[in-house]
Amino acid sequence: MCKATKINLLIVRLQICISPGLQFSFVNKLFSIDFLKILLIFSKTFYKVKVKFYGVRGSLPVCGREFEKYGGNTTCIKILREKVNRIAILDAGTGIRKLGKEIIEEGVNQHIINIVFSHFHWDHIQGFPFFLPAYNPNQKIGILALGRRGKVHDLKGIFSQQMQEEYFPIQMEKMGAQFDFFSYGDQEVIQGAFVKSIPQFHKRFGGSYGFRLDDEGVSLVVCTDLEYVNGIDPAIVEFAKDADLLIHDGQFTTEEYQNKFKGYGHCTWEQAVEVALQANVKKLIITHHDPDHNDDFLDDLEKKCQKIFPNSLFAKEGMEILV
Ligand SMILES: [Zn+2]
Ligand SMILES: [Zn+2]
Repeated sequence: MCKATKINLLIVRLQICISPGLQFSFVNKLFSIDFLKILLIFSKTFYKVKVKFYGVRGSLPVCGREFEKYGGNTTCIKILREKVNRIAILDAGTGIRKLGKEIIEEGVNQHIINIVFSHFHWDHIQGFPFFLPAYNPNQKIGILALGRRGKVHDLKGIFSQQMQEEYFPIQMEKMGAQFDFFSYGDQEVIQGAFVKSIPQFHKRFGGSYGFRLDDEGVSLVVCTDLEYVNGIDPAIVEFAKDADLLIHDGQFTTEEYQNKFKGYGHCTWEQAVEVALQANVKKLIITHHDPDHNDDFLDDLEKKCQKIFPNSLFAKEGMEILV
């Protein structure tokens, strides 16, 4: 049941419970500004999973006034499961730096913080050396490669090599936190949540992986860094079927893709919409914005996107979505 329906039912039940004489004044109060504010706050607590974006840019970080609205950091998403009050992180692009600072400031006390990686291109790992909780000796950090059991031969090396002394002043083993490395199968129960993964075509089949989280009756799907070389992949549509939220790569426009970017490993926002429609998802967020797309350009694309799929948004840094 959606939040609005729950609130409407609550209002109807309250109205039925009171006598007819009191109903008029009660209904007036019900729609007073203060009461509506309370209802709004109340409605915001109805969620099972909260998603917050810390990096929405693809390929490399950008900065400048023309990128302030959507943000310039590369991919990083926080997923908070309300029932267990646990966070997980998807990808460690440059956006993870801010997330790490927030985790410290908010005093998040979680024995192990898992970071799930869609793949290991620079724009998805480059923020890792700047993730403050990784410098806390009392913190465990889980590095997760979902769907790649037996396929990643040196998961630790992927991270330690980018931090060897030629590239970075502090080596991974000197950071302080305890690191655990996990390569999982394509269906797992991780800390009580059902997580599935799917290989995507990103320069090659299995060049990146998409994820689906089913938890407490809601479903969230993330498919970034993928290309549809022969049209929409029906396996991805099936994977995203009926999801409450689909977060999908939409780096290019169709025109850009056709003229310049075939084979770059990404898809178009129009393809993301097509997947959302075919999969019957409830909400679509488009991410992995091209570094050459400024705020005005993305605003324009978002409007076009919403004309076809009204419940859609282009991801912005700091944006929170409740599922
Ligand atoms: Zn990327
Ligand atoms: Zn990539």
